[in-house]
Amino acid sequence: MAFDLDMIKKVYSNYETRIAAARKVVGKPLTLTEKILYAHLWDGDAAQAYQRGTDYVDFAPDRVAMQDATAQMALLQFMQAGRASVAVPSTVHCDHLIQAKEGAKTDLAVSNTQNKEVFDFLASVSNKYGIGFWKPGAGIIHQVVLENYAFPGGMMIGTDSHTPNAGGLGMIAIGVGGADACDVMAGLAWELKFPKLIGVKLTGKLSGWTSAKDVILKVAGILTVKGGTGYIVEYFGEGARSLSATGKGTICNMGAEIGATTSIFGYDEKIADYLKGTKRAEIAELADQVKSHLTGDDEVYANPEKYFDQVIGIDLSTLEPHVNGPFTPDMAWPISKLKEAVKEHGWPQDLEVGLIGSCTNSSYEDITRAASIAQQAVDKNLKAKAEFTITPGSELVRYTIERDGYLNTFDQMGGVVLANACGPCIGQWARHSDDPNRKNSIITSFNRNFKARNDGNPNTHAFVASPEIVTALTIAGDLGFNPLTDTLTNANGEQVKLDEPKGLEMPPKGFAVEDAGYQAPAEDGSKVSVIVDPQSTRLQLLEPFKAWEGTDLNGLKLLIKAKGKCTTDHISMAGPWLKFRGHLDNISNNMLIGAINFFNDKADNVKNQLDGSYGPVPAVQRAYKAAGIGTVVVGDENYGEGSSREHAAMEPRHLGVRAILVKSFARIHETNLKKQGMLALTFANPEDYDRIQEDDTIDIVGLTEFAPGKALKVVLTHADGSSVSFAVNHTYNAQQIEWFKAGGALNIIRNSQKA
Ligand code: SF4
Repeated sequence: MAFDLDMIKKVYSNYETRIAAARKVVGKPLTLTEKILYAHLWDGDAAQAYQRGTDYVDFAPDRVAMQDATAQMALLQFMQAGRASVAVPSTVHCDHLIQAKEGAKTDLAVSNTQNKEVFDFLASVSNKYGIGFWKPGAGIIHQVVLENYAFPGGMMIGTDSHTPNAGGLGMIAIGVGGADACDVMAGLAWELKFPKLIGVKLTGKLSGWTSAKDVILKVAGILTVKGGTGYIVEYFGEGARSLSATGKGTICNMGAEIGATTSIFGYDEKIADYLKGTKRAEIAELADQVKSHLTGDDEVYANPEKYFDQVIGIDLSTLEPHVNGPFTPDMAWPISKLKEAVKEHGWPQDLEVGLIGSCTNSSYEDITRAASIAQQAVDKNLKAKAEFTITPGSELVRYTIERDGYLNTFDQMGGVVLANACGPCIGQWARHSDDPNRKNSIITSFNRNFKARNDGNPNTHAFVASPEIVTALTIAGDLGFNPLTDTLTNANGEQVKLDEPKGLEMPPKGFAVEDAGYQAPAEDGSKVSVIVDPQSTRLQLLEPFKAWEGTDLNGLKLLIKAKGKCTTDHISMAGPWLKFRGHLDNISNNMLIGAINFFNDKADNVKNQLDGSYGPVPAVQRAYKAAGIGTVVVGDENYGEGSSREHAAMEPRHLGVRAILVKSFARIHETNLKKQGMLALTFANPEDYDRIQEDDTIDIVGLTEFAPGKALKVVLTHADGSSVSFAVNHTYNAQQIEWFKAGGALNIIRNSQKA
């Protein structure tokens, strides 16, 4: 139903020639990461990519995966491309919008009602454009991708930060913004800064209470939440080969917490076993034929220091189980040190809730290991002291573990099974609490534990550990409990010890499912209508942006001169605004409301030059728009840093801002602006920022000769009638200039579809 064997054959058929070309250019043995990247160059030109060093390079990903929250704008934009179907295999997964409250059945029913318009839209747009649709309850994007789509040596982008999960099956899988997903689905190249490399050599073998989760908890402690930024982390060594494929997935998933671009393991027998176990033996056969390309060269792994920018070694045989937190996933505590740390820092020692599962740790292996601990609670007459929830990552896993009796075990321990969805991991958790102001502790097997992430309560201290450690600590209800050494008192007053967890990598009877929740798209989508209620406040079909009028831009007004940091969060705030992410006009009411006005040091308060009044940025901009007057936003250094958010580029475009003029841009935001047909300009002399006055009228001159590398001119006319002019730079290449002229990259694609 799901994977595309022809596409995979095509990818592998490129490997021989592309990797040979890369070897010639690079002139030394290759890491796995390099092989996959070179095999996926957009133009196949290894020499040019090599020359660019760690600059941006164009790639051709094989797949796109989108979760329900981020898919909305990505697909609304994609509809603008005028294509009959997506250019690469793509899927949508309904997982983020389901709130956990009572348990799977009720919660799913409530979400289906509350989010009906969004789900209907996503289902219909998927049906029309050849996109696989995974309905609410089918599972969490990364687990579903691992079970169905990930393949060794592939490249995927996903509109979610934990997309790297698929690295567990040897795929370069990277989390991106919706604009990138839209481009790739529309048939455009995808730009990535050629990453640096961290090698993690795993020796030894896991045993006892230690699991794959502890590898990444340890790595997070070493590298911290920033240490992986700009890097791909490649795991290798006998220890890596000994880990189950889903264990590898857990490690790659949580690699997002160290800021890594992605993480990856090489193809091996464990990965082949998982492919076979999930009914994809054909992929394993194909991978076997090119397996020398699906791992790093021997010389690389023999002398990793020569080939990676940084190397870390971890001995799995001596690795201790870890518990990380609170409030950050890189505060790593070996379990033997946790009790002391809890006391020293005054963190609440009583555990109130333990939560297992999520996209990170809900494999059959994870569940069976956790269940082996839960079973002991039942057998040894121990009553769990904390609440306990289980979030299966997919219906395939849920159905199989129910069939095999494990859900029953959790039930006996007092556990509540939640929907196969993100739920408490992303704050979609209506937690029952008697006093939200009380400091409290919870422990999860999720990946992220920043303040207020799980239940929205800043007083909740969230710790992260493996599912088996979470289960043991939930039984104890005590963060200070070390199951490796400590005993618990059971209902008969006896001291009992928990035995080491035992698990199975894969179900002995095989995976089973009645309804996996997959909806294949229509063979011919041309007759399918996309469902959007015109009255909706959450969804709005987009209108193509207007093409450039063919002249210089004269008589623009200054909207805001932003002072200091202006990230994508300042430009398009998250929080409550996220519910409008599929409705461009509504979400535009958050445009630049976080930016500080240089002239009065206030946020969301700028001068309306039309009447001299001061008001919120979006309202003032709407007044200019109504009067048919374009505007300019002026900014400081590194404008638009932060997560890639297409809304931050679309909102100003929608509301009629014509140019963003700054001292410097964050590269991704600059590209996003160009894609939307905006002018993204930088002061040739940064001191010219100081010349901008509050009542300025602005002309942008030179657009009729707009060319790569050629500066434009800005003319300021001040309120007193005096004027100054200065040069402004841009980084548009020839193709990007065409985007500007057409009014946006998607307009070009749409026009080419008509031709
Ligand atoms: S379970 Fe959590 S980490 Fe995984 S996709 Fe959902 S929100 Fe993201």
